[in-house]
Amino acid sequence: MKILIIGAGPCGQGAAYHLNKLGYSNWKLIERNDHVGGLSASFVDEYGFTWDVGGHVLFSHYDYFDRAVAESLGDSYYEHQRESWVRILQRWVPYPFQNNVRYLPDGALKESLDGLRNLSGNPADSENFREWMDMVFGQGIVKYFMEPYNRKVWGVPLETMSKGWIAERVSVVDLARVERNIAEQRDDLSWGPNNVFRFPKYGGTGAIYEGIAKPLQHKIHLGCEMTGIDLDQKTVTFSGGRTESYDVLINTSPLDLLVSRCRSVPEQVREAVGGLVHNGGLIAGLGFDGRRDDSRCWMYFPESNSPFYRVTNFHNYSRFNVPDGDLAQHFSLMCETTYSSHKPVDKDRIVQATLDGLISSGLIDQAEKQRVSSRYLIDIPYSYPVPTLGRDRALATVQPYLESRSVYSRGRFGAWKYEVGNMDHSFMQGVELVDRLLCGKPERTLNGLAG
Ligand SMILES: Cc1cc2nc3c(=O)[nH]c(=O)nc-3n(C[C@H](O)[C@H](O)[C@H](O)COP(=O)(O)OP(=O)(O)OC[C@H]3O[C@@H](n4cnc5c(N)ncnc54)[C@H](O)[C@@H]3O)c2cc1C
Repeated sequence: MKILIIGAGPCGQGAAYHLNKLGYSNWKLIERNDHVGGLSASFVDEYGFTWDVGGHVLFSHYDYFDRAVAESLGDSYYEHQRESWVRILQRWVPYPFQNNVRYLPDGALKESLDGLRNLSGNPADSENFREWMDMVFGQGIVKYFMEPYNRKVWGVPLETMSKGWIAERVSVVDLARVERNIAEQRDDLSWGPNNVFRFPKYGGTGAIYEGIAKPLQHKIHLGCEMTGIDLDQKTVTFSGGRTESYDVLINTSPLDLLVSRCRSVPEQVREAVGGLVHNGGLIAGLGFDGRRDDSRCWMYFPESNSPFYRVTNFHNYSRFNVPDGDLAQHFSLMCETTYSSHKPVDKDRIVQATLDGLISSGLIDQAEKQRVSSRYLIDIPYSYPVPTLGRDRALATVQPYLESRSVYSRGRFGAWKYEVGNMDHSFMQGVELVDRLLCGKPERTLNGLAG
């Protein structure tokens, strides 16, 4: 059985790594870029700043993934304690916001507590993400943080999103705990799977995947874009016209693009992928001359005085993210803005708008603005696969059809499941698919059973 893998991001690499570990050699991996890593790649700009494709932090639910990362990085990584904050009403509130509302000014604090004390409805009965928020957090927290922040990140009306993906992604709230935090003037920071995270010393997040790919590189073909698939003949066409046959195709490119490249597909499958929703992201990497003493890792920005929803103090993750590793002379801020048909963004102006937003949200001052030495913009047309109300129905039409034609689509946009779309999940989707194909084991991550 010849296995052809499309994409050298974490998912395609997970499949390739595991095939190799199992001693299975009849496979090939095809990647359109001239580098591996996909959305988890990193880049060094002309001034020597390293950039990720948005703030990536490494945390894992899987020993298998941990071992692959350890083989790749050895001891060449730093471990950080998460320190993240929310900028709101001209002050900083520790994350998770809902546990730390004591930082709010009196009026907003009262609204938040009143909302929590007067919750109504059973969240299990809510019909969409927006309704779920109201039932779990109440009006105040929704008004100040949950609604504006999520609208900024997702770039779609929140009523169109489901609530099924939430489990580990949104910290819910406990009124007694919030009241105790207020009474004891206590910061409550420990929630979440990523409160301790690792980061490669050299080369950004992408170094992990450069390392994993290295022993496999003789089977990884870079600069080769899949442009068409003939499901009957079981062949893939690449840019330049070359074709390649397969017995099993593992796809990690976006599912809607995959289907659009298939030659003959039933109309209902085409219609179903047409209902899948995603947003795009603009990552503005700004390198500065000067020193920045600020221990925060990343910060959230729900308000409209900045285009971005998140900014990372990227120099804090590794000093080698700045030129010569010299933190006395350089610092770097990585700023993420969402765009979508509901939320258009002027790409030509985004870097300037980002700089203005950094000033209006109090992250830098006018003098620092004059000391920008590098402006590095990354445009990612596929950033977040949106868990919409119709997503699971669409996937239930598309995936079984593709599998009946020996095409298995996995990974962040291949499977289109945000809740299992992080690096560890994506890598393990590749691993577990191989285990299913070769050993008949069930795929736990794809089916929401891992964690
Ligand atoms: C802004 C942002 C922040 C994130 N933060 C985190 C984080 O903090 N922690 C975390 O764990 N994860 C994070 N992620 C998620 C992480 O980036 C993904 O989990 C991971 O990259 C998905 O891997 P993948 O292999 O499924 O897809 P991708 O990384 O998208 O890889 C797919 C690959 O397929 C290739 N490809 C596409 N089309 C073709 C074609 N036609 N022919 C050939 N090759 C093709 C692409 O070039 C790419 O290399 C973040 C993602 C984003 C966008």
